[in-house]
Amino acid sequence: MKNRRSYFIVVFLIFLFSISAVVYIVMLEKTEKQLLVEKYANNAKNLQNRIHDNIVAKQKSTLALAITLAHTDKNLSKFIINKRVPYNYYDDLLAKYSKSTLYKNIWIQVLDKHGVSIYRSWSKHHGDNLSHYREDIVKFLIAPKNEFFISVGKFDMSIKAIVPIFDNNIFIGMIEVISHFNSISKQLSRSGIDSIVVADKKYKTQLKFPVTKLFIDDYYVANYDAKPELMEYLKKNNIQNYLDSGYKIENGYFIVSYKLENSSENIGSYITFQKLDDLSLKSIKDFMLQWILFGILILMLAVSIINIILYMVLRKQKKYYQKIMNNSTNVVLINEGNQILEVNSRFFQIFNEYKTLKEFKEKYNCICEFFVEDEGYIKEEMDGKSWVEYILAYPNKTNKIKLYLNGRIYYFLISASIISDKPLRHAIVLSDITTEEIYKEELEKLTITDPLTNVRNRRYYELRIEKEVSRACRYNEKLSIILFDIDFFKKVNDEHGHDVGDKVLMEYTKLVKSMLRDTDELCRIGGEEFVIIATHTSQIDTYVIAEKIRKAIEEHHMILPITVSFGVAEYKDCESKDSFFKRADNALYEAKKSGRNRVVLG
Ligand code: GH3
Ligand code: MG
Ligand code: MG
Repeated sequence: MKNRRSYFIVVFLIFLFSISAVVYIVMLEKTEKQLLVEKYANNAKNLQNRIHDNIVAKQKSTLALAITLAHTDKNLSKFIINKRVPYNYYDDLLAKYSKSTLYKNIWIQVLDKHGVSIYRSWSKHHGDNLSHYREDIVKFLIAPKNEFFISVGKFDMSIKAIVPIFDNNIFIGMIEVISHFNSISKQLSRSGIDSIVVADKKYKTQLKFPVTKLFIDDYYVANYDAKPELMEYLKKNNIQNYLDSGYKIENGYFIVSYKLENSSENIGSYITFQKLDDLSLKSIKDFMLQWILFGILILMLAVSIINIILYMVLRKQKKYYQKIMNNSTNVVLINEGNQILEVNSRFFQIFNEYKTLKEFKEKYNCICEFFVEDEGYIKEEMDGKSWVEYILAYPNKTNKIKLYLNGRIYYFLISASIISDKPLRHAIVLSDITTEEIYKEELEKLTITDPLTNVRNRRYYELRIEKEVSRACRYNEKLSIILFDIDFFKKVNDEHGHDVGDKVLMEYTKLVKSMLRDTDELCRIGGEEFVIIATHTSQIDTYVIAEKIRKAIEEHHMILPITVSFGVAEYKDCESKDSFFKRADNALYEAKKSGRNRVVLG
């Protein structure tokens, strides 16, 4: 009852742990997904901030340069008033910047107070009024002050800073310093982030002299280092899907967009590509690993607890069975095949040379090694079955074993039962019947033994000849009997007394017995009348034996010299035992009649 409860608890615990493990795994997966989403969103935000900060930093430094140029160059006012800046005027300066500062590709433009371009450092093209197509210039002309913004002109989308030029406090024009996205994209590419900076498609026609000459459909690409395969990717997947601020995870890319705006006017987008594998997810992995390890630890703990409970239950159960086994007066063995797994304490009272099963097993595998082969007793192999299989097959038979142990014979009743199927295990129970068997053997011996001569008696002869006759008939085997009777024995008794007669009987019986083969059986069937059952023997051979015995008796002369008459018969024609005996008896009668001390064939 207690065990059943323990098993129920164990099964319940296993069920509980399994459910918990499933819930735990599901939660862990969910958490990982959530963490990943958070991580991606964070990464995107950080990248957008980085792009923003880079652009602002560039805008500010561009403005600083513009302010410097506006306020340190005395010639500038003159140039604007004259509407002419000498060709190559800024070349030296720009070359110096390019060489020793971060301004690698700075453009300078000078405009008059109407927004007409007087000078472009990167092109000879001038005389055009920028306010006709640039919204930022229109706004600037209304309220001229230091400004920076992202803007698209005829040549490029770039980062621009404009500073107004005053002559005697009168606004006469402006200087514009233009820098590009290349330095930003180059800087990002050092962190494994590729950039595609695109101007909105509305600028397509305005961009009359596009410097990079790169387009994705109607979208001008403003950075030289835009990778062709990424431009192709955007084209294939419709670039419009990538213009809004946000992020996407596609084809192993982490794609982030940052919208380029000028006071809420959409200018374009800064799109970045990063290999998903390059994203540092270490913190998430560490976090997950930590929880997976924690889960494994809990699982191991759970398994240990279940194991401990199971171990305790089994130990209790084992003790319980051991107690039952040891209380038994029978020898109990638990076998797997021929291997003994367990025995009770009674086992060691029988196999008393050994103190432990281990000691026993060092010498023997199976108790069947002690079996004595005898009729009516279990052998190691019976009818093609192993001894255990045989006992299991015939549970209602009285199965007995005869063991030879320490120079003694033991008898046991043996029974077997299956206690587990996989692996196949048996409980073998041996109950000691040695005393009973010996007693029975003695008793049996007494009922078939003649007390005076110690040879088999008439009762035995009757039982035995019945068997032999039916066997000889069935298998057509040879069978003979020698019937003999002491001559004039009455005289021995009369002359020397009954005691001497007995001694003569004993002495000569001993002599005859010593001359017989193991297979021959000598029986005293009357006072001084005997019969020898000679199996597998023909009449002639039997005659020779009888003659040898006759002669030996005649020459023995112990106690008293005697002679004996013999009648020999061989079994034939499946006759009855009585007719068989009768023929021998007639022959004996003939022997007596014809002078005694002779052998006559019947
Ligand atoms: P025959 O040659 O014709 O056989 O003569 P016999 O005297 O032997 O005659 P029979 O066989 O008829 O005699 C049997 C005698 O054997 C009778 C009895 O005195 C004797 N006898 C039978 N049983 C015993 C016995 O157990 N002890 C002794 N001492 N004598 C016995
Ligand atoms: Mg006689
Ligand atoms: Mg007689």
